[in-house]
Amino acid sequence: MIKKCMAAVAITILMSWAVMAQDARTVISNASKAVGADNLKTIEYSGSGMDFTLGQAYNPSSPWPKFINKTYTRVINFETPATRMDRIRMQGENPPRGGGQQPVIGEQPQNQTVIVNANTPWVNQLEIWMTPYGFLKAAAANNATVKQQTTGGKRYNVITFQGQNKAAVNGYINEQNMVERVETMIDNTMLGDIVFEALYSDYKDFGGVKFPTKMVQKQGGYPILDLTITDVKPNAPANIQNPQRGAGPAAAAAPAAAAAPSQKLADGVYLILGGYASIAVDFKDYIVVVEGPQSEERASAIITEAKRLIPNKPIKYVVNTHQHFDHAGGLRTFVAEGATVITHQVNKPYYEKLFNAPHTLTPDKLASAKKKASIETMTEKKVLTDGNHVIELHHLQGSGHNEGLVVAYFPKEKILLEADAFNPPAQPVTQTPATISPYNQNLVDNIARLKLDVQTIIPVHYPADGRKVSITELMKVVGKASSN
Ligand SMILES: [Zn+2]
Repeated sequence: MIKKCMAAVAITILMSWAVMAQDARTVISNASKAVGADNLKTIEYSGSGMDFTLGQAYNPSSPWPKFINKTYTRVINFETPATRMDRIRMQGENPPRGGGQQPVIGEQPQNQTVIVNANTPWVNQLEIWMTPYGFLKAAAANNATVKQQTTGGKRYNVITFQGQNKAAVNGYINEQNMVERVETMIDNTMLGDIVFEALYSDYKDFGGVKFPTKMVQKQGGYPILDLTITDVKPNAPANIQNPQRGAGPAAAAAPAAAAAPSQKLADGVYLILGGYASIAVDFKDYIVVVEGPQSEERASAIITEAKRLIPNKPIKYVVNTHQHFDHAGGLRTFVAEGATVITHQVNKPYYEKLFNAPHTLTPDKLASAKKKASIETMTEKKVLTDGNHVIELHHLQGSGHNEGLVVAYFPKEKILLEADAFNPPAQPVTQTPATISPYNQNLVDNIARLKLDVQTIIPVHYPADGRKVSITELMKVVGKASSN
C-alpha cells in the first residue's frame, strides 16, 4: 500500500515536472499552432465598439470619456512590421462630458499608421505586439521565459519577454492555448508608470485562424478601447504606406517644436506660442505663468522663454486651467522648477498623487529633483495681484468639458485666456455653425454671468493662422452679435 502510494506520488511529481519543464519555446509553439499564427504574415480585423480618450476625463475620478466606433478596421503586417487603423467615430457621451474633441458632430473618420523602423517608439509598436499573434511572434523572437500561474481559479502559462522600454511584457496563455491577456508597463507624462493591458475573449474560427471577438484595452485603470470583432481576414493584402505629409491626423500630431516664440500683449504680459499657448506675467518680485501644458519639452521651452522675457525673477506660480493631460502635462516640470501650482480644488488630491507617482521607465526632471509639490487651490474665484498686474481666475460653472475648468481674465487688458471652452478653427469663423457647441455656449454664459469685459480671447489651442481672436468671433459661434 505504501509502495503504491509512493509510486503515485512519484508519478504525480513526474507529471507536474513535465508541465513545469514545458519551456517557453514549447508553450509559444503550441499556442501559435492553436491560434493559427504560424503562417500568419498579415491580418485584417474589423468590427465596432467604443474608444475612450485617455487623460480627458470630466473630473479626476471619472473614467475616460467614451466615443462610439461605428466601424473599426485594423490591418497588421507582422513582417514589415506595420499597422494601419481606420475608424469612424461618433459622439458617445450625451450630453457631451469631458474632452477628446467633444462634441463630435456627425461622423469623424480617424486613421493611424505605424511603420516600424529603428526609431519607432516602443509604445507606438504595441498595437502590433500586444495582439495575440504579435505577442507570440515577439515572444518567440525575444528569449521569452515561462511560469505557471493560477489567477481567478484559472491556470495559465505566463510567457514573459522584455520590451524595448525595459518593461516586462506578459502574455497569459490559457489551457486551450489561447492568449487571454497581454500586459505591460508604459510611461505616461502625467501618470508615470502605468499598466497597459489587452484582454481577449470569445475566440472564434475565421478561415483557420482563431481570433478573439471581444477585445478590451485598458490604460491607467480604465478602458481605452472595447471592440466586438465581426470579420477577420488572415493574410489579407497589407501594403501599408505612410500617409502623405501634411495631411491627416498624423501630421497634426507631430511633436511640439521646442521653439517658443512670444509676443507682447501689454506691458509685462507676454503670449508664448509655438505649441499650446501660455501667458507669462511680470509681477514685481516673480513671474506668473498661466498654463503649463503638454510635456516636459514644451514646459521647458515656456520656462526658458518666460525667463528670457522677464530676467532675474523666479517663476512663483503656474496656473492650471484643468486636469486634462494635454493641459497639465507640463506641470511636473514647473514643480521641478520650484513653482507653486494653482488649480481648482477638485484636482488637489489627484495632483498630490500624480506629483509623487513613480516615473521609472522614463524619469523626468521632477523624478530626478524629488521636489515636494506646492499646490494652491481655488473654488469660484481667486485674484493674483502685485498691486499693478491683476489676474482674475474664474471657475466656469456648469462646464461639461471639465468639472474644475478655470479661465484667466486680465481686467486691465480685457484679455481672457481659456482652454477648450472655445477652440477656434484655423481660419476665422464667419458664420454660426449649424450645431452650437455646448462648451462654447457655456463660456459665453459664464462671461455674461461674471460680467467680464472681454475684448481679446487667448485660446490655449491657438488658431493655426496665428490671428488675434476677438470676442466677436466667440459670439459668432454661438449665434449672438457681440454686446461690445
Ligand atoms: Zn480639456
